[in-house]
Amino acid sequence: MTPTGGASEKLEIRSFTGGAFSENGYLVWCADTKEAAVVDPGAAVGELLAAATDQGLQVTAVFLTHAHLDHVEGLPELRKTLDVPIYLHPADRALYDRAAQQAEAFGMRLPGPLPEPDRVFEPGTSVTVGEVEFEVRFTPGHAPGHVTLFAPSQGVALVGDVVFAGSIGRTDLPGGDMQQLLASIRREILSLPDDVRLLPGHGPETTVGRERTGNPFLISQSPGTWA
Ligand SMILES: [Zn+2]
Ligand SMILES: [Zn+2]
Repeated sequence: MTPTGGASEKLEIRSFTGGAFSENGYLVWCADTKEAAVVDPGAAVGELLAAATDQGLQVTAVFLTHAHLDHVEGLPELRKTLDVPIYLHPADRALYDRAAQQAEAFGMRLPGPLPEPDRVFEPGTSVTVGEVEFEVRFTPGHAPGHVTLFAPSQGVALVGDVVFAGSIGRTDLPGGDMQQLLASIRREILSLPDDVRLLPGHGPETTVGRERTGNPFLISQSPGTWA
């Protein structure tokens, strides 16, 4: 181990919110190497890309927690300037390929065709942003191929639409399953330490501890912690 490696790496995070669904896209970067990843590029992708340029960041990947329209609609614009690998879990590929139909169902139109997702998220492996490692955790239920990205060294998890401050993801869309979602949250989110920050696809950030004790959808998932 070198003195500069390991726990000294620092992840910076900024969220960019926009569109009909007020989706949060994230720009995450390693402060040491200035390498960055874009997570769930939605309607505010223009602002996100401008910030990456302002900060002098080198974006090396796009990570998609899942393939719902609001999390991928920024990809056509992103692709104009960034030709970087796009990561998606294969179980969400069918949704991804139907993005135009998803848009239609909401009376919207995609700004262009989506680029090919050329990398596959494999649960149990990790992906890196500079020197920061993210575990890929499989969290289906809101979408069949939903993943959560957890950076143990940073105590931060990008949870997409799995869990929100005081709520959980909807399960009434194609491929949704409430029991599966609750099982995913119990297995992959509530198993994390209480002080882990949860950065969701909608609304403000929260923590594992706050949701464990105060989220009305999860109280039955943590028996004994609700006084
Ligand atoms: Zn979603
Ligand atoms: Zn969403």
